[in-house]
Amino acid sequence: MKKLDLYTSIVGKDVIEELHQLAGLLKGRKVVHVNSTRKGGGVAEILRRLVPLMCELGIKTKWKVITGDDDFFKCTKSMHNALQGNPIDIPESLLRIYEKTNAQNAEVLRKELEEADIVFIHDPQPAPLIKFCPDRRGKWIWRCHIDISRPQRHIWKYLRNFVVDYDASIFSIVNFAQRLPHPLYIIPPSIDPLSEKNKDLDAKEVYSVYDGLGIDMGNPIILQVSRFDRFKDPVGVIQSYRLVKNFTPSAQLVLAGGPATDDPEGKVVLEEVKTAAGDNPNIHILLLPPESDRTINALQRGADIVLQKSIKEGFGLTVTETMWKGKPVIGGNTGGIRLQVINHHTGFLVNTPEGAALRARYLLHHPEKIKEMGYKAKEFVRANFLITRHLRDHLTLMISILYGVKERIEL
Ligand code: UDP
Repeated sequence: MKKLDLYTSIVGKDVIEELHQLAGLLKGRKVVHVNSTRKGGGVAEILRRLVPLMCELGIKTKWKVITGDDDFFKCTKSMHNALQGNPIDIPESLLRIYEKTNAQNAEVLRKELEEADIVFIHDPQPAPLIKFCPDRRGKWIWRCHIDISRPQRHIWKYLRNFVVDYDASIFSIVNFAQRLPHPLYIIPPSIDPLSEKNKDLDAKEVYSVYDGLGIDMGNPIILQVSRFDRFKDPVGVIQSYRLVKNFTPSAQLVLAGGPATDDPEGKVVLEEVKTAAGDNPNIHILLLPPESDRTINALQRGADIVLQKSIKEGFGLTVTETMWKGKPVIGGNTGGIRLQVINHHTGFLVNTPEGAALRARYLLHHPEKIKEMGYKAKEFVRANFLITRHLRDHLTLMISILYGVKERIEL
């Protein structure tokens, strides 16, 4: 059985048929996706699932990862932070390393990139590759996954110099779109309901994962799954937890995170989190290895309250993952979380640790609400944020870019 057919029971036959019809127009085309890490973070998570399905649909799709040294990732992390609004200056010397690293990667990837019909470049890290592929014959698309609605202008101006050369850009939500001299597309990310991270698990397995981690499922569990990144506000989560504990003394907090190879700040933030947690035995800080999908799945299914208290968030796949498991999310009122958490319906939007604690208290006292909102949350994800919708968006985008001049496209 083809992998795509397995999605029929989740989204219906028509959705899958439509994907085959659309892909018919793209059969044999060469597509390359480029990002900066194979493990950790949302982009890798998406590509891991999307690329094989594209291949199954008959599109020759490859996923390439650029490499760089510590200075390169220091530079791109600063750029990421500045584009999401932090007041940061990046020294010229680091920007030169950024460009040089891209030039070096282009040496390795040039042939494939120049021969591809469509190249998707994800986020700022590999954006300059386009400058080093002068003989490209296909269309190049810059796919921005982060919240650049209020960037530090000078850094955006610098990056924009590369982005203007692209044929199109994709943003996750409308507010993030920037003024650019080419078509802009809005495509939110997605999760794969059949992946190890999202597929159904039985209660026994969920229990044994918590048990194995030394966490007692008999007491309320508050969970946040995230890289240790200040934008995810893990210290704010600890503050919320301490407030919750005032009225639910048995509550426990689980902060689960792991490393991403393109995120050099994780270690420092982890230390800040450990300091904030002190020696509280009810705060569990879990450092998960990269292949922990089933563990994360179980953690999300077994938690009583799930937070994603980000202060900036490109999209927040962890929110989607939790909602798909039939749970409301208490999420930071920002970026892509707003697209998913419909306040009071699929979760709660909060601006402060106090706000998060208040909503957690409410849900802990109203388990029937968790069920009701969780049902809505799951259906909202089914309608909007599954990989089948993402595939359709990508296919239609590729068709529109390759067949743009035609008035009518026959399926
Ligand atoms: N994730 C993971 N291990 C961790 C922390 C996160 O596998 O220790 C996953 C998480 O389940 C989600 C992705 O990494 O699928 C994070 O995506 P998100 O959009 O939430 O945030 P990003 O890290 O891209 O900012």
